Amino acid sequence: MKWSQSHIFTLRDAPADAEITSHKLLVRGGFIKKLAPGIFTLQHLALRSVRKIEKIIREELDKRGCTEILMPMVQPQELWAETGRLGIEELLKFKNRNGHPFCLGATHEEVVTDIIRKDIKSYRDLPKNLYQIQTKYRDEIRPRFGLMRGREFIMKDAYSFDTDLDTAKKSYDLMYDAYKAIFSRLGFEFRIVEADAGNIGGSVTHEFQVLAESGEDRIIYCNKCEFAANVEVAPNMPVNEPPGPGGEMEEFDTPGLKTISDLAKALNVPEKSLTKTLFYADADGKPVCFMLRGSDEANPVKLKNALGMSAAPLMLTDDEVKALTGASPGSCGPVGLKIPIYLDSALHNRTNFTVGANRDDKHLRNVARGRDFKETKIVDIRMAQVGDQCPRCQKGSFKQARGIEVGHVFLLGTKYSKAMGATFLSQDGSAQPIQMGCYGIGVTRTMQAAVEQSNDKDGIIWPLPIAPFTVHMCVLDFDEATMKVANGLYQELEASGVDVLFDDREERPGVKFKDADLIGMPLRLTIGKRGMEAGELELTQRKTKETIKLPPQQVAAKVMELVKNGR
Ligand code: ATP
Ligand code: MG
Repeated sequence: MKWSQSHIFTLRDAPADAEITSHKLLVRGGFIKKLAPGIFTLQHLALRSVRKIEKIIREELDKRGCTEILMPMVQPQELWAETGRLGIEELLKFKNRNGHPFCLGATHEEVVTDIIRKDIKSYRDLPKNLYQIQTKYRDEIRPRFGLMRGREFIMKDAYSFDTDLDTAKKSYDLMYDAYKAIFSRLGFEFRIVEADAGNIGGSVTHEFQVLAESGEDRIIYCNKCEFAANVEVAPNMPVNEPPGPGGEMEEFDTPGLKTISDLAKALNVPEKSLTKTLFYADADGKPVCFMLRGSDEANPVKLKNALGMSAAPLMLTDDEVKALTGASPGSCGPVGLKIPIYLDSALHNRTNFTVGANRDDKHLRNVARGRDFKETKIVDIRMAQVGDQCPRCQKGSFKQARGIEVGHVFLLGTKYSKAMGATFLSQDGSAQPIQMGCYGIGVTRTMQAAVEQSNDKDGIIWPLPIAPFTVHMCVLDFDEATMKVANGLYQELEASGVDVLFDDREERPGVKFKDADLIGMPLRLTIGKRGMEAGELELTQRKTKETIKLPPQQVAAKVMELVKNGR
């Protein structure tokens, strides 16, 4: 494509609202244009990259027996009422001119299950895997980082349908493999991590996380074994402590000591030897408390799962805590409380507790579990930390990294098929609910993640498989001889299947090189009068800035060689 005929406008400065590198670079390079918060136009260069990503996805899914369809974006609200998901805040709802309630597709479990319940009759019709690549709309509360968390974005979503859990697990494993192949082909450094399965019992789920400092997700992994998980769900080992001294429970004054760190300093003990008591409201709005070591933080996703809720529980306000316990937070503890008490597994064999006395500015020491308070349940509710012992191999310890979730695979079970009556007739003639899985890839997020993972101070360094163009041809002079060589090479490369961006603008070389570095195609071919006179052209690799000089007739072969080697 000739630059002069295309629609590429680079900018000198990034917009003020661009916080992360990839967002800045995509805007400066003229790849994306904001229309409204979280809503962007994909300009031509971005669209080319997206199309290449989609092609790789299609190839890997099609060869594993998935079938592509395209479902509507506008969906009747009744479907969402069937699964009880109409209340989801990300759903953008509206009525049409007849007053009929609709919403925009935030995801398609409801629609695809509706299709399946109409089409599938018997076990002979299964298994199936349907997928689509389509625009989603989610009314995200805080869209940010450009395409990373948009309101409108492109997703590949796939859904598997099976007769039983064993075959559903096989379908899941097949998609897991497909995702591994896809993200490897895209050239990513990524990790596959265990993720939150919500409250659907027995479910399996993994996230595909591209490693990047700016990632919104925190990943915990073991330095000895394969274990890796989103910190939201990273499990912890129970902690064994030596038994504490016995003794009578005793109240003591702690004036003004409101925090664990104040108390630890005043008592001259480590924070982890103290215990904090936190108050939350459960699904029915009733108060519960969680006890953790003073040095630990509560993990909201683990709290949610411990209480069987669909969203993280809310903490009680200071006034609510005071009304419940008689004291302000900081002076509260479990003794005398008549509410469920959940004890973190790090405390499972602690015998001697120091806790708030439920009287302002007072604490209790020598509090014995069983004698002075009774826990309802021991659960793992703390946030995993770097250095914690790995519960899987029990040898290594946790390290952490940040990631961008580009894909998510999920064994759903019968949650949607039961709610919507999607059944099949089994061999014994009985109607059974279909076992489902769902599998998403954020296509536009994936494109931006590639930029986030691959750039330098001058701009983007596109990985070859998804570069908008493979070669950026900078023509510096427009005399007949130079143009003849340039046009010849352009045609030769295009004919060999190498896509070329032909920078034919009448701009200074400095401007062209700067733009070439910014928009980041893997190879730059420089054709100018001076080089022509010397009988050589310059081929520069964007990543290494390594330049080789070679005669025009050898250029195409060299480009093909570099492309073949993946550079
Ligand atoms: P997140 O935790 O980031 O909100 P999610 O778990 O809600 O994502 P899924 O429902 O699993 O997302 O969607 C499948 C994929 O779609 C995600 O793995 C992600 O790559 C992409 N995705 C989700 N929300 C957005 C968004 N707002 N903007 C861009 N891509 C998104
Ligand atoms: Mg997800």
